[in-house]
Amino acid sequence: MRRDLGLAAEMLHLPGMSAVKPTFPAPDHDHDRCAADAILHAEKVCERRAQKFTPIRRQVLQALLSSHRPLGAYEVIDELARSMPRPAPITVYRALDFLMDNGLVHRIESRNAYLACAHDHDAAAMVAFLICERCGSVGEIPAAPVAQSLNAAARSTGFTPKLSVVEITGVCAHCQAA
Ligand SMILES: [Zn+2]
Ligand SMILES: [Zn+2]
Ligand SMILES: [Zn+2]
Repeated sequence: MRRDLGLAAEMLHLPGMSAVKPTFPAPDHDHDRCAADAILHAEKVCERRAQKFTPIRRQVLQALLSSHRPLGAYEVIDELARSMPRPAPITVYRALDFLMDNGLVHRIESRNAYLACAHDHDAAAMVAFLICERCGSVGEIPAAPVAQSLNAAARSTGFTPKLSVVEITGVCAHCQAA
């Protein structure tokens, strides 16, 4: 029993991910701090990878960091238009591609939306997304073992998997408690 608990605790730790961040931050958490940390992390990642964190890339990430809910590209544009001239979609899509390539933003396929990563995990780390149907928040959990066995099962049929996406809908602990 104790071993199981130990394993569960370990599973929640992504390589390179700060262990202290909860999967779903409490509704009353200090989100400004959360967003500021994510911007700081993005600055470090860009510096390490010798990439330019241009104003539009920063603004798009900031728009996505307005909450823990994923936003569609046009919602990002609406959010940006509140504080700057309305950007062209292509500009926003390019910035989103950049942010995804550098592991700072995830695409939530089932929502056709983008999520700012609030965790500083490896860009290559496999994560599963937990999508709360009530508050719309999306949490991330490590999914490397699941992805590996899915890919192995796919390969055993002669299929060549490219990308595993694991998205699980449900209700987060905060909404269940509310
Ligand atoms: Zn937050
Ligand atoms: Zn992430
Ligand atoms: Zn919720």
